[in-house]
Amino acid sequence: MSRVCQNCGREHEGRLVETFKDGDNKPIEIVVCQYPRYKYEAQTNED
Ligand SMILES: [Zn+2]
Repeated sequence: MSRVCQNCGREHEGRLVETFKDGDNKPIEIVVCQYPRYKYEAQTNED
C-alpha cells in the first residue's frame, strides 16, 4: 500500500516539477503539484 499525494496521485515530497520541451526545443518547467497532500495529514486547508 503506497501513499500517494491526494492532489496528483503521485508519490513525492515538496514541489513536483516536470520538464517538457516546446516546439522550439526549449525546456519548460511545469509545476505538476505545488504541495503534496496526504490522507495522513489532518490538515483541512480547503481553499
Ligand atoms: Zn502531488
